[in-house]
Amino acid sequence: MTDTFEMPEHRCPFCGSLHDHATNTTTEAKPNAGDVSICFDCTSIGVFDENGSVRKPTEEEKAVFLADSRVQTVIAARTFQLAGLL
Ligand SMILES: [Zn+2]
Repeated sequence: MTDTFEMPEHRCPFCGSLHDHATNTTTEAKPNAGDVSICFDCTSIGVFDENGSVRKPTEEEKAVFLADSRVQTVIAARTFQLAGLL
């Protein structure tokens, strides 16, 4: 089950894309501080902060997120979509 939530406007810390929504692909919960964010435009991994914005992850956070098969699946699916393969 997925759900999409309105979020405070924020920019991807990698590509600068403006975002104001987030979709949780694993639960129906609104993102919390410390949750992973995957940019819809560039697929970079970020981390939601306490204001609903997204910051760059630490190296430790990035390693944990990249080891999560759910994160790997979302990045792969979005990468295929951006390439026109899905
Ligand atoms: Zn981005």
